[in-house]
This record gives sequence, C-alpha cells and structure tokens, in this order.
Amino acid sequence: MRTLRILAVLAAVAVSVVVTACEDTSVQTDTDAKHRVAPVSREGGRPLRVVATTGQITDAVRHVGGDRVEVHGLMGPGVDPHLYRASERDITRLEAADAVFWNGLHLEAGISGVLERLAELGVHSIRVTDDIDRQLLLAPPEFNGAYDPHVWFDLDLWSITVGTIRDALIAMDPEGTASYRANADAFISQVRDLDSYVKSRAMEIDERVRVLVTAHDAFNYFANRYGMEVRGLQGISTESEASTADVQQLAQFISERGIPAVFIESSVPDQAVQAVIEAAAARGHTVIIGGEIFSDAMGAQGTAEGTYLGMIRHNIDTIVEALAQP
Ligand SMILES: [Zn+2]
Repeated sequence: MRTLRILAVLAAVAVSVVVTACEDTSVQTDTDAKHRVAPVSREGGRPLRVVATTGQITDAVRHVGGDRVEVHGLMGPGVDPHLYRASERDITRLEAADAVFWNGLHLEAGISGVLERLAELGVHSIRVTDDIDRQLLLAPPEFNGAYDPHVWFDLDLWSITVGTIRDALIAMDPEGTASYRANADAFISQVRDLDSYVKSRAMEIDERVRVLVTAHDAFNYFANRYGMEVRGLQGISTESEASTADVQQLAQFISERGIPAVFIESSVPDQAVQAVIEAAAARGHTVIIGGEIFSDAMGAQGTAEGTYLGMIRHNIDTIVEALAQP
C-alpha cells in the first residue's frame, strides 16, 4: 500500500520536475519549519534504519550513529546526485526506513520531491543543511537565486551538518544521546583538524595559479574557505551542458594565467575538460590533467577516498601536487 502511494508521489514529481526544472525554489522554502523528529520504537534494541543520499552524508551518519544505526547509502562511487533517479529498490528501502538524511539544497534534484513527501508517509525526512545560517550559504548568480548545495567542501559548514545529524538521531533515539554526542564530537574534531590541513596546504600554491579548473562548479565553498579561485565549465548542476564559447573562454583564461593543470571529477564525464585542454593547446599553452578529484561522489568503498575525510585529503594533495611550483 505504502509502495503504491510512493509510486503515485513519484509520478507526480516526475511531472513537476519537468515543469519547474528552470525555476528552482530552494531559496523560497528555506523558512520552512525545522523537521519534527519524534522518538522511534527500537523493538528488541534493533538499530535505527536510516537511508542517506550522497556518500558524504552516508559517511557522516555512520560516524555519528555508530552501531546504534544501520545506514544505507543510495549513491555509490561515481554516482551523480544532480541526475540521480530513485529505483523501485530505493523506494522499498525508503519506505522501510525510520529516517532519510539528505542535502536538501536542490542537490538531489531528481528525487527531492520524493524525499520531501516521505514525511507524510511517516518516515523522518531530514535535510542536513537546515541548521546552516542562510547568510553562510553561497548563491552564485548563475544558479538563479538558489543556494549552492556543495557545502561539504567548507569543512566548517560540514561540522554544522554533523550537529544536525546528531540532534536528529538523539530525537529519534534519546537513549543513545551520550553515544551520539561522543561520536559527533570525535568526528567534528577530525573534520576541524583536516580543515587546518587544507588551509595550510592551499597556501603552498602560488596565488597566480591558485585556480581550480573542473568540469562543474562544485568547488565554490572550497574556494571561498581556502583562498582559491574556481572555474567550472558546467555550472553548479551537471544538468546543463558547456557550450563551445564556454570552452574557448576557459581556455583563454587558462592560457593567460599560465595555469599548469586542470582536474577531472570522478562523477562527471571528462570530455568537456579534454576539450578545454585542446583549446588551450591551440593557443600554444600546455595544460595537463592534474588528476582525478572527488566532487559529488566519493571514491570506492574500502579505499581512503571512499571516506569523507579521505576524499578531502586526496583532493587537496592532488591539487597542490599539480599546481604548486617546485
Ligand atoms: Zn555538483
């Protein structure tokens, strides 16, 4: 019965996504009341059943939840959250969950309607970015008034989302309060250490070439916090495509500034970046691929890059290695 209801919701959402794809409403909905989260019955001491959308959110919920929470991540390595659509298996998992944790700033554009409406079906639906002061969010002009969702690249902002996850878990499972608090504190302290590391490493790059060129605009928060410039070809969502003019403009910028390397993202096809490299070559400037960095998806499970802390460290190390002059 519940499955049918969710499928009906999905069908309605599919229609509304087509109609409203160009008029994002995230900014308008930011005054929504905080999610009401009630205690969940954990019969027989069973773990809380939680679904999380992106790898970064899944990782944070795992850290804070510890063994009191069973987390299923919807989006694995290489999966692009902007384009993600829910499968029937996902729907089954979502309907069986106590809660779903998601970004909420229009990142999961293809399933946000489903996630919003889960609340009506008795599943706690928690947007982890809700407690971030809207003043701290970026709203670049090219995103038509909506907020940039890639907040995990500002490690200070990400600590706030860890707190939101902690508070939601405590509200659902008050008996676990001490454990959730201790886990969150431990994780936030690791995030803070890494924040200092990223800051100091970024300064190793000469200011003139401290520019991160990637396929899509995922790194505005990163740039903002760590003193880098960013140039993305595709805009904030991967839904839009780069034009020939975009490619030429970026190639000109790279050539003029003498930028030695550009980067590919694990979850975005690299043709557009290759086109920029060729366009720069045609202008007589050699620019190489500085490596693969992780933007919206994390690395393979079981590798360091398959964790949030590991992917951030990998990114900054790769960027510094390619851009810092010896
Ligand atoms: Zn993105």
